[in-house]
Amino acid sequence: MTTVTTFALRNARAPRALIADSHADLEVDAEGLARVDISISDGRIAAIGRPAGVVEPGDRDLDGGQVWPCFADIHTHLDIGHIWTRAPNADGSFWTAANAVANDRDANWSADDLRARMEFGLRCAYAHGTRAIRTHLQSPPGQAATTWGVFRELREEWRGRIDLQGVNLLLVEEFRGGKSDAIVDLVAESGGIVGAVIFMVPDIDDILDDIFRLAADRSLDLDLHVDESLEARDRTLRHVAEAARRNRFEGRIQCGHCCSLAVQPEDDADRTLDMVAEAGIAVVSLPMCNVFLMDREAGRTPRRRGVTLVREMAARGIPVSFASDNCRDPFYGYGDHDMLEVFAQAARIAHIDLPMGDWPRSVTATPIEVMRLDGPGTIGVGAPADLVLFRGRGYSELLSRPQADRTVLRNGETIDTTLPDYRELDRLFG
Ligand SMILES: [Zn+2]
Repeated sequence: MTTVTTFALRNARAPRALIADSHADLEVDAEGLARVDISISDGRIAAIGRPAGVVEPGDRDLDGGQVWPCFADIHTHLDIGHIWTRAPNADGSFWTAANAVANDRDANWSADDLRARMEFGLRCAYAHGTRAIRTHLQSPPGQAATTWGVFRELREEWRGRIDLQGVNLLLVEEFRGGKSDAIVDLVAESGGIVGAVIFMVPDIDDILDDIFRLAADRSLDLDLHVDESLEARDRTLRHVAEAARRNRFEGRIQCGHCCSLAVQPEDDADRTLDMVAEAGIAVVSLPMCNVFLMDREAGRTPRRRGVTLVREMAARGIPVSFASDNCRDPFYGYGDHDMLEVFAQAARIAHIDLPMGDWPRSVTATPIEVMRLDGPGTIGVGAPADLVLFRGRGYSELLSRPQADRTVLRNGETIDTTLPDYRELDRLFG
């Protein structure tokens, strides 16, 4: 005989934008938060409705606290993560970071080293309530096989807890003349996504055509690092949009960063965004990493913060996500793979608040859709009860504290949210 556990989350609040559309009759407050009771049966959401005003034995009374679906973190670098102790960034600049990572990679990235750090990142993310992660993976010829091997093992081991997607990370010029075809084959064999760091090179359109063809021939999606700079002349986002159209690319395309849009003339940026919308390109903004790296100069306070035009994108229907990007490595010295922190920082940095509107989807439903995952990324009847329960009621309460006392339900069961101890990594640092 099997027993079916049934209980309810009572007196909860949830962003209306995160509740499946079929529940039109909910009462929604001025912040866009709906008051709800959520019934859970056999690990799935069985019903969503207005608060009944009763709490039965076995129920959980949220006392007005918020419920969110579990998060998706669509742009990370798990393979670089947590090397800060042995590879700090001395001046905080982008190029010092790139060199420090390359040196650390060539000296230290064995399977054991990668596994320990990537797993550490996954454990942090899981404890914070994340259910899906896309990670870029540095894939130069001498490294790719080791890294993708560890990635494939971890993807298996974490199946059911975190859906893991991998993207090869190579510089645009490493694709010139078919130099990286073998890496793309490895990506295809590994069920990955084709990636590249795109910057302005004289033959950018030819190389983009090659990249698009490599992906299309293998029916793979694309995820590109684009214009991570504050140089107005960096306009590779427009080249990507043109390449998508020229190649009639049918896969999904996501572009990350797009910082230089913030310093381009308004009508120029508008034209590019129109083309991005037309090409169906999704964008992910990485505000914490941008604020760390952009406009950093010794002894000078940054003036330009490099966060892309997320509101103008959303207004055009471009799917916009926010994500962690780097974590405790030379590209970003902080971070804990916590998507609530990412959302809270995005609210402050990019002014996606007042009103918050649909923006809670930027760390849940939108990335889940772009990742082509099962499940709607919203709270809906029939979906697994993968939920994060917060004490914070309104957005000011939710986003003022780290909500370290949150409860994470996976398939309706409370998971252990203890974070791994940094001391576990000491053995990697000599
Ligand atoms: Zn990145």
